[in-house]
Amino acid sequence: MPEPAVCEGCGNVYADRRWSLPETAVESNKHPHFRPATLVLCPACEIEKSGVAAGYVHLEGRFLNEHWIEIERLLLNETARALADNPLGRIMGIETDDEGATTVRTTTEHLAQRLGHALEKAFHGNVRYDFSHENKLTHVWWSRGGELRMEN
Ligand SMILES: [Zn+2]
Repeated sequence: MPEPAVCEGCGNVYADRRWSLPETAVESNKHPHFRPATLVLCPACEIEKSGVAAGYVHLEGRFLNEHWIEIERLLLNETARALADNPLGRIMGIETDDEGATTVRTTTEHLAQRLGHALEKAFHGNVRYDFSHENKLTHVWWSRGGELRMEN
């Protein structure tokens, strides 16, 4: 990929063979070898566009429904912190089904794992990680105050 490149979807910047958040672009602009940036779509935006997530966090149990505001805040804060390490890890969507189980879709496997660890650390409960290296897909199952649904 030509460098520097800028994602036309989110403004992420590709330079020195890595992606950075838009605010880092200001630093890149000071780079002595700065060239006008090429417009591309970053891997996170590609995944969002395709609609096919790389990570899923499944949440369920009574605790979830009683403490959703705290849980959602934790998920969003952890995602914001993770962005500093990897600007390609984002939440694509959060959906709740009729039975009250919630699914968080992420653009990277790593973010799903990280959210699982954060949930475990903050709220305890039961957690299980399912890795499918072949499909590059991770499912994280977290529950508290209810049964873990192990099947997909
Ligand atoms: Zn992007």
